[in-house]
Amino acid sequence: MPSMLDAVVVGAGPNGLTAAVELARRGFSVAVFEARDAIGGGARTEELTLPGFRHDPCSAAHPLGINSPAFRALPLDRYGLEWLHAELPMAHPFPDGTAAILSRSVGETAASLGPRDAGTYRRLVEPFLHHWDTLARDFMSLPLTALPRDPVTLARFGLVGLPPSTWLTRRFRDEPAKTLFAGLVAHVMAPLTGFATGAIGLVFALAAHARGWPVARGGSQSISDALAAYLKDLDGAIHTDYEVKRLDDLPPARAYVFDTSPTALARIAGFGRYYEGYRYGPGVFKVDYALDGPVPWTAEEPRKAGTVQIGASSAEIGTALREASRLGRAPDRPFLITVQPSVVDPTRAPDGKQVFWVYGHVPSGWTGDLTDTIERQLERFAPGFRDRVLARATAGPPELAARNANYVGGDIASGAVSGLQTVLRPKLSLFPYSTPHPAVYICSSATPPGPGVHGMSGHNAAKAVWRRLRQT
Ligand SMILES: Cc1cc2nc3c(=O)[nH]c(=O)nc-3n(C[C@H](O)[C@H](O)[C@H](O)COP(=O)(O)OP(=O)(O)OC[C@H]3O[C@@H](n4cnc5c(N)ncnc54)[C@H](O)[C@@H]3O)c2cc1C
Repeated sequence: MPSMLDAVVVGAGPNGLTAAVELARRGFSVAVFEARDAIGGGARTEELTLPGFRHDPCSAAHPLGINSPAFRALPLDRYGLEWLHAELPMAHPFPDGTAAILSRSVGETAASLGPRDAGTYRRLVEPFLHHWDTLARDFMSLPLTALPRDPVTLARFGLVGLPPSTWLTRRFRDEPAKTLFAGLVAHVMAPLTGFATGAIGLVFALAAHARGWPVARGGSQSISDALAAYLKDLDGAIHTDYEVKRLDDLPPARAYVFDTSPTALARIAGFGRYYEGYRYGPGVFKVDYALDGPVPWTAEEPRKAGTVQIGASSAEIGTALREASRLGRAPDRPFLITVQPSVVDPTRAPDGKQVFWVYGHVPSGWTGDLTDTIERQLERFAPGFRDRVLARATAGPPELAARNANYVGGDIASGAVSGLQTVLRPKLSLFPYSTPHPAVYICSSATPPGPGVHGMSGHNAAKAVWRRLRQT
């Protein structure tokens, strides 16, 4: 290691690794320090249940990953990353045995929403889909890390997306469209009536139409492994089993980039109450299943979908979100996101068997066991599900927080996605990646564009670092 590094990155999650790669590929010397014995943070894969069953304890579906301008500019395919697409990106079954779908095709999706809403859906997404690549870049670079390339489309998107999602879903007349859209918003645990929640739902829909919602062959670990392998080829170093507690724990460097929560950074760097206004959101309860075969969905469509949203109606989803985020209790009928990697990836389980991934929302720090409630909810849409279960691994908020310090109280978004904090995080600031110390930066999902495996927070923070390093 040189006596003075250009940059040190703390945390080897997707944002930390992306920041390190972005700096190393511009010729800067970089070392990454990770608390855990394995890299990846929220993009990892482990045999959590039985031998041969490879589960993703955190992220599994990657609409934001495949659409990320940062990932798309890196040669990750050469380092083993392969996106696998199920026939349908997402399906949303209903208790009567029908289902709405999110297909790559806008027409197929619209048709599944029923004749009264098909045209409305098309008119909503098509104008943005035609400008998607520019819009995604502009949206994920906000605020102020780059001038918008298409300010007109971005402004139009803001007009539609910044109001609450409930305003947007008023355009729909029937439940399938309202429910599908409510489920999309609930992916980031936002209350449906919250600021900018329309934009959240739209981004997930547009991402599906543009490039799909794939899983990574072999599991989400292969995203992290591809970033790490590229970094090593660029002479970057990664040190695991190295929890950073104080700035003095780190070697001398011209810049320090933290892929941590803002509160942890404040503790480590001695920033006192600088981030004290930062709020954390509800937690999740996660179950990973080893199954004896495919999930016995009643409806046909979920059998061929990578992701399946579970919530009988928009009202049921709204209630579940309110209970977990505002009322402090675990929902009786939780909104569930489920992912079925085995539908497209045979490497994840022994022949004929499957891995299955589920989580539901619970209050921050909740210590109960949601397994039975989750399985009762699944049985409404897939009767006989329990008979397929060979083994399960569960993790509630305390376990999630113990495995990754960024998931405070089990909040997998590393900060509430509500109010102004949805877009302006971790502080009201024109440049949210800066901190009170000119050499210290933050790049985790507590910064824009927020949660998800896309590396854009890492990219945006790294851009500030390389500009400064070149100046000095
Ligand atoms: C159950 C669950 C399901 C999810 N599902 C999806 C999904 O399907 N699709 C999707 O796109 N996203 C999903 N996410 C969210 C996604 O995983 C995160 O938004 C993403 O990983 C954030 O990346 P990051 O680099 O900011 O932080 P993280 O991935 O959390 O990485 C932070 C890293 O920093 C390390 N660290 C923290 N403090 C220190 C310290 N003091 N010293 C050294 N190292 C430290 C941590 O150990 C960790 O490795 C999910 C998350 C969870 C938990």
